[in-house]
Amino acid sequence: MIDANYVNQFRMVCFTDEPEGIREEVEVHPIPDIKPLHPKYWFGEENYCWDRSKFLLFNAEEWLATTGPFCYFDLDVIIQDSIDEFYDLAFKPHILYSHWQPEGQLKLRRFRDIRGTYFNSSCMMWWSDQPKKIYEDVIENPDIFKTFYKGSDNYHQWRRPAGTEFWNFLPHEWYYSYNYQDTDYDAKLALFNQNIIEGEDTISIDQLEDSILLNHWYGKYDMYKDFPTRVVLELSNKHNDTGNSFNDIFVEDDELTLQDVKRIFQDPPEYVTFLHTLSKPSRCKDYMKIIEWFEQQGSQVMIPAMAEEVPVEVSNMPDIKKSDQVTRENIKKFKQKEEYRNVAKEEKWVIDCEARNENMVYINAKGQVFPCSYIARDILENRLYPLHPIDYPYNPKYNNAKSFPLKEIVYNADFECYNDSLKKDHLKICKETCGRCV
Ligand code: SF4
Repeated sequence: MIDANYVNQFRMVCFTDEPEGIREEVEVHPIPDIKPLHPKYWFGEENYCWDRSKFLLFNAEEWLATTGPFCYFDLDVIIQDSIDEFYDLAFKPHILYSHWQPEGQLKLRRFRDIRGTYFNSSCMMWWSDQPKKIYEDVIENPDIFKTFYKGSDNYHQWRRPAGTEFWNFLPHEWYYSYNYQDTDYDAKLALFNQNIIEGEDTISIDQLEDSILLNHWYGKYDMYKDFPTRVVLELSNKHNDTGNSFNDIFVEDDELTLQDVKRIFQDPPEYVTFLHTLSKPSRCKDYMKIIEWFEQQGSQVMIPAMAEEVPVEVSNMPDIKKSDQVTRENIKKFKQKEEYRNVAKEEKWVIDCEARNENMVYINAKGQVFPCSYIARDILENRLYPLHPIDYPYNPKYNNAKSFPLKEIVYNADFECYNDSLKKDHLKICKETCGRCV
């Protein structure tokens, strides 16, 4: 999330006693063993200030042997938009103000008795050793936690060892509390603070279903982290071998030759699978030569059996010739029940794409490249069916591995569009076959 929303260089450090499973780009730092802030000195023994190890942050300059701007995030913060301004803001200490709480609570006796707070430390920033006095205060006064037993945010409201003007607040419109305010997609930060009060309807991020927020949470990613090593290949689209006459409309006049295959695969893939849906690959003129060539290159060739044809339900099979004009009347006649496009009510999903997971790419008989044959079919249906929109741009001329290097296509515009589209709402088949990644 930070990579996607911050322009400057940064170092991402995680203080934790559970280093397993953390992404490799994160620098893992053990929680400094300082009494009484390390959890081993209080966790499970006393309940004063449940997050007291957060005070260790205020000595981060020493733990990390670095100066300059520091920005801290709780683990349950979603960054939704650019935080570039944080760099300049970090010249002065900043914290958050709980503007979702009713105003005037400080005047309430009960609120004061429990040392209630408007401070929220889900995100803080400062420069070098500015907050050191806070760190020293809690070290020198270990009993202080009995006073601010609820948490470190209460401490910041009531005790100001670094001066009453020490903390500044980030602009309120930059952040919101997902649980206590309306969702604000334009804010920079979404907080998932919970008061954990019985009967309160709040969620943590692992219960979140809003795919826009989930896509921020999972961050931007490339369609393929590493260049695909598996290829699914359609050798020919010249014949309808499915036994279903409806599929005649997908028949074209394309076939890959040995020359095409050599040009496309200058770096031969590890695995090649010949797609066997519309035309039998063995109908391709260079079929045997292509298999031999792949085998000589060390690629493992797989030829799956033709999938058993499930009859497509077609109502009102239209009598429209390819050369016919599309008119309002013949559009009305054209109803095909099974389309790959998702026509159900828009739902927001995060797709766990099988092509991405398997590091697989699909190339059709024209030489066009797609993550999988379903995306190819979606684009084909967009061309053939009068009422089949696609919601991403597609450039058929550029997307052709016979003319452009495969690598250039896989890491370029069309694939970025598929990728973005996968992160929003994608094909019905994506959801049914590949499922969610959360
Ligand atoms: S169906 Fe969708 S999610 Fe599945 S491999 Fe194809 S593009 Fe990816």
